[in-house]
Amino acid sequence: MNSKKLLKKGQIEFNEIHAKVSMILSSYISEKEHVLQQKNPKKIANQLNLKNNLKDGFKNVDSMMAFIKNYLSNTNHLKNSRYMGHQVAVPQDLSGIPEMIHGTINNPSSLYEMGPSASVIESFMINWMLKKLNWFKGDDLYDFKHSDSVGSGFLTHGGSIANLTVLSAARANISPNSWIHGNQNNLVVLGASSAHYCISRSLSIMGMGSNSFVPIPVDEKEKCIMEELYKIYEKVTKEGKKVMAIVANACATSTGLFDPIYEMAEFCMKKNIWFHVDAAHGAVALLSKKEKHNLKGIEKADSVIWDAHKMMRVPSLCTAVLFKNYNHQIKNFIQEGSYVFHKEDVIGMDTMPYTIECTKSPLGPKLFWTFALKGEKNITNYIENSFEKSKELYKLLNEREDFYCPYYPESNILCFKYLPSKLDCEKQLKLRYKIIEEGSIYLTSCLFKNERFLRVVIINPDTSTKDFKKLIEVITKIGSEL
Ligand SMILES: *Cc1c(COP(=O)(O)O)cnc(C)c1O
Repeated sequence: MNSKKLLKKGQIEFNEIHAKVSMILSSYISEKEHVLQQKNPKKIANQLNLKNNLKDGFKNVDSMMAFIKNYLSNTNHLKNSRYMGHQVAVPQDLSGIPEMIHGTINNPSSLYEMGPSASVIESFMINWMLKKLNWFKGDDLYDFKHSDSVGSGFLTHGGSIANLTVLSAARANISPNSWIHGNQNNLVVLGASSAHYCISRSLSIMGMGSNSFVPIPVDEKEKCIMEELYKIYEKVTKEGKKVMAIVANACATSTGLFDPIYEMAEFCMKKNIWFHVDAAHGAVALLSKKEKHNLKGIEKADSVIWDAHKMMRVPSLCTAVLFKNYNHQIKNFIQEGSYVFHKEDVIGMDTMPYTIECTKSPLGPKLFWTFALKGEKNITNYIENSFEKSKELYKLLNEREDFYCPYYPESNILCFKYLPSKLDCEKQLKLRYKIIEEGSIYLTSCLFKNERFLRVVIINPDTSTKDFKKLIEVITKIGSEL
């Protein structure tokens, strides 16, 4: 029997279009000539025929396919092994499948009854992450019951929202009345001056003002200096301030270097201060016996955030907010919502009362999928290799007279300068734009100790020595003409 005969017209079209899109995507991932070719935005809008497509819809399947091809021709091609730019996951070839399923059925995962499968997978993955932190106390990863004083968490849309959620929980802990009556004006948060900007942004959003973030001076690698932390703590306490939380970088976004987590944790325990580890990028080291030492002491924290859309090959966004103590999660937002917050009377695992989002995408399935495609060992190897390769690049650059690396890398992020005595900060930046214009490499730049550096993140699993040689070749060629 011809199975096609049993299908309705709409289904046939559905299958054909999906097959065509698959073919286009499969050629996209195999053609990797350029990383990025930037065009003028108007030119792209014209090429995508946005006005007509919006008004009249795609004319037919061919015009839909033409649109997709044009769309793909104006992308930053992360699958290119010379993509060394931002901390954005290079997905596996089949990573998009959960997103396709979601886009077809739309089952958000913040309410169990709106997406039971997605909710269960999210809870399962949270248990798995808690276990890596030694915060999971259940007998089995299928143990979904929560109780006081054990680890808990949920997934949310990105590290910035995750940090905001955690800082709000830290405030609820030290100043439970703030939720209703507004902030008491003496709360401060301490963290290395190299902390991600979203920490101070969160404090502003919370109405505490960005001045409530008190930066701890950093050493020559931009890591938190413990003696300075003690001094600042004494100083702010004398001024009548209360330390709401201390935040550690694991690792710092610009450098990829880890704060002294263990020492900071000990200090927080001694002083009874909420300790938050912003492990957006570096939490993945928990998966590796070899790299775990970077996170020594992390299990002593009160909260951790972990971006899966950076080093776990998960398409953005997907971040875990993890608490050592379930009470901190439930006491964060003190609100009633009659149509959504049912407390004990429903089975399951609604995350809506605890997240900033109301509706949220099913984040668990795409996180789970990354492992289900090839297994945990594969992701662990990928992480270890990426960390290793930045050390290889460090050696290559460090051997040369014309490059300068200010530190030995601890993760897969590395900063460096080309011809530091000849090219000032402005020229380093100019060099980056020229490299991007050339199109064969994509990298970023950052300020380190107030000076402009070029910055690479080794995040594509195929990046190899060959690409590092090409990087050096392109930089020396363009740089020598500046
Ligand atoms: C990337 C990063 C963030 C921000 O996370 P997003 O998911 O991009 O919002 C916060 N903190 C650190 C340390 C990071 O590396």
